[in-house]
Amino acid sequence: MKIEYKYTTTGCRLVFDKNGTHTFGGDSPKIKFSGKKLNQTLHHFLSIDLSDSNSPIKAEGIEKVPLLYPLKNSGGGGELQYQIISNEEIMIHHISDFDEENFVNHNQFPSKNVIFQALDYKTERILHAVNGGFDRDLNEEDTSLIKDCDNGMPIRIGGNIESCQGKLFAYCKNPECANKEWNCNIPIIVLCPAAEWINKFTSIDTWGEYPEDVEFCFGICQDCGTIHVENMCG
Ligand SMILES: [Zn+2]
Repeated sequence: MKIEYKYTTTGCRLVFDKNGTHTFGGDSPKIKFSGKKLNQTLHHFLSIDLSDSNSPIKAEGIEKVPLLYPLKNSGGGGELQYQIISNEEIMIHHISDFDEENFVNHNQFPSKNVIFQALDYKTERILHAVNGGFDRDLNEEDTSLIKDCDNGMPIRIGGNIESCQGKLFAYCKNPECANKEWNCNIPIIVLCPAAEWINKFTSIDTWGEYPEDVEFCFGICQDCGTIHVENMCG
């Protein structure tokens, strides 16, 4: 199964909607894991419904792409790489060594249906400014607009996203991938800041020991569709 990155000029953000077809949080999909052995809990961040035209990725033969991350023990910046084999199977190509300490105490986020809401030009421009692209204070109008956009830290999907440390570079660990180059540029498909977004619907201590400037970056190898995820700190 090859998942392909679909370049979209318009970025989106996650917005609660009971009719949304994407699922944030909740139990991991009941999927068989093959490949490298997993000793860690994988948190289910998001399942992307591929039938949504705003999806930043596409694939034939599968319906959803689950985004997973070993949140509990990866305060040091743990990396995970996996490939969607089918609706029923995920193959783990790489999982890094983990800290013994639990950085969060929960095994899953509360579940919520969400939609991908396209960002308008002005909002996207202000988000760029908030992320350091504009060396001046925002004016009152911009500050108010950004407040309604998760205080400038929405969970972003698609578009041309960069992390707080810039582009995502990683070595694809899929042994069958054609790209054997060290540090290939992996497009970020979802950028999830350890921010307030999730606190709108939960009373749990969502991020535990993770500081506010941590971002969870989900990217995709353009050659084989392997999902790469790591956390970065501003
Ligand atoms: Zn690859």
